[in-house]
Amino acid sequence: MNRPEFWITAAAASPLLSYFLGRLNRWAGAAAGAALFIFSSFMLAGEIASGAPYVALALWAAAALAHSVVLNGRSGAAPDRSGLEAALKRATELEAELAGIKKETTLNAAGEKKSLAVYSAVKLLSETVEPQAAAKQLGKYLSDYFGTEEAALYMAGSSGMEIFAQGPKASSLPGLERLMELTGGFPTAAGEISGLVLAPVAAGDQTLGLIVLRGTGLEAAENAARFASEISYALKRVLLFRQVELLSLTDGLTTLWRRSALDEKIREELRRAAAFKTTVGFMIADIDHFKRLNDTYGHQFGDAVLKRVAQLLKSGVYETDFVGRYGGEEFGIVLPRADSEGVLRKAETMRACIEAEVFSQGLEKVRLTISIGIGHFPRDGRNPEELIAAADKALYAAKETGRNKVVDAGNI
Ligand code: GH3
Ligand code: MG
Ligand code: MG
Repeated sequence: MNRPEFWITAAAASPLLSYFLGRLNRWAGAAAGAALFIFSSFMLAGEIASGAPYVALALWAAAALAHSVVLNGRSGAAPDRSGLEAALKRATELEAELAGIKKETTLNAAGEKKSLAVYSAVKLLSETVEPQAAAKQLGKYLSDYFGTEEAALYMAGSSGMEIFAQGPKASSLPGLERLMELTGGFPTAAGEISGLVLAPVAAGDQTLGLIVLRGTGLEAAENAARFASEISYALKRVLLFRQVELLSLTDGLTTLWRRSALDEKIREELRRAAAFKTTVGFMIADIDHFKRLNDTYGHQFGDAVLKRVAQLLKSGVYETDFVGRYGGEEFGIVLPRADSEGVLRKAETMRACIEAEVFSQGLEKVRLTISIGIGHFPRDGRNPEELIAAADKALYAAKETGRNKVVDAGNI
């Protein structure tokens, strides 16, 4: 290779030196490349130092040198990760924000469900004219509010606290007696005991009911107290409503069912017995010579006697039987699902019980007797009227044949 060709090649290759040396240090590479080009140009002086070929070579070398510097600048520097990191950081922040919003939404939804449940419960209790039917729906609201199906609401009834409304699984909760054992008496404030939350419902100083549910923690107790306070006045209305209803259905003197209520019970029981192919016993008990007793000892004593007879009759039957005052000194007794021998035996026991009772009036000891007529469904009648007529006929037969006796319509 002759000398000019060598230096032309060296000048043309100077950017390559710049590039490869620049891999180690971009500026040192550029300086070495530029130096090689200048030195080659110097060596070529007089040959192609002037004129178009040299200008083209110089331009090429300058452009390639610059490019090598740019290339080495890119590859030499560490990749810029700050943008990516910032984006990742923001994504994490957004994710946390989203989780927060999700949690809040869930809480809001739960809160809304609670509000709706308590609102519905209050509305239901405030508007209902049929507390028994309302109780079913109320059980659902209780479960919704407390988030458990093991929840119950007791309400003050004629014979103490009775379960009024309950969630589907309330039967797994301990009974009232056990609860009172646990709390050592009726609770005066909401609290938790043995995994149960109890909250009394009260309006003023009147105790109206008790909320019981499976749950733990202060929050659950506070929740129950809030529900109790929200429903208290609506529950009071139901209680008053029930009392009025009961007063209209029961007899003031004896507290037994009035005739209209008893007739309704007969209709209901006959319908049920017809549907389930069971039986219903019906008795009419009438005090013998009661007019005489009134005439001898006065109406006031007569009233006291009526009250006592009512008590004795009521205590002689099952809880599920219905005893009503049918007229002045006449009582009707409905015995669902009783067989005819059973009814006869029970009537005989009642008759004997009254006969044995001593009614005192001052120093006087008064005794009396009753006569009982029995009708039996479906044997003696297919509807309430026929059944009552059969019992009435049997009672008449008892009176006709000497009083102080039981006559079954099936035997006459
Ligand atoms: P019998 O043996 O035939 O049943 O004779 P009785 O005297 O019991 O029958 P009667 O139907 O002639 O008389 C019923 C009496 O019951 C008439 C009335 O003075 C009395 N009576 C009805 N309701 C009441 C009441 O609320 N209080 C009192 N003290 N007496 C009543
Ligand atoms: Mg009588
Ligand atoms: Mg009578």
